[in-house]
Amino acid sequence: MRYWRKPLDLHEVKIPHGEVVIIDDRCKGCGFCVEYCPKDVLIMSERFNKKGYHPPEVVKHGECVNCNLCEMICPDFAIFSIQSGEREAVGEEKEVAN
Ligand code: SF4
Ligand code: SF4
Repeated sequence: MRYWRKPLDLHEVKIPHGEVVIIDDRCKGCGFCVEYCPKDVLIMSERFNKKGYHPPEVVKHGECVNCNLCEMICPDFAIFSIQSGEREAVGEEKEVAN
């Protein structure tokens, strides 16, 4: 995120890090998550899921800021993010960005 001015408490701001979980076989390849991720963490992959669509994949490992936008925008509940370090609490994940 770019600031239009330097915040007075900038040195106290901690940027969160997330891990992206993609449930390939729910995806219908609409590309919303790729298009709207503010950090350009995702691209559409070349591989196919069992429905015949291309699911997204993580290309910028370590760049996810856990904003949950991909999760909110996905019409098929096929992607979500979790706070880094909380992965053990989630069941079976397909792909993770640290
Ligand atoms: S949580 Fe935010 S930064 Fe991370 S992949 Fe989703 S949209 Fe991008
Ligand atoms: S928004 Fe959901 S359905 Fe669309 S490409 Fe991303 S994961 Fe797939």
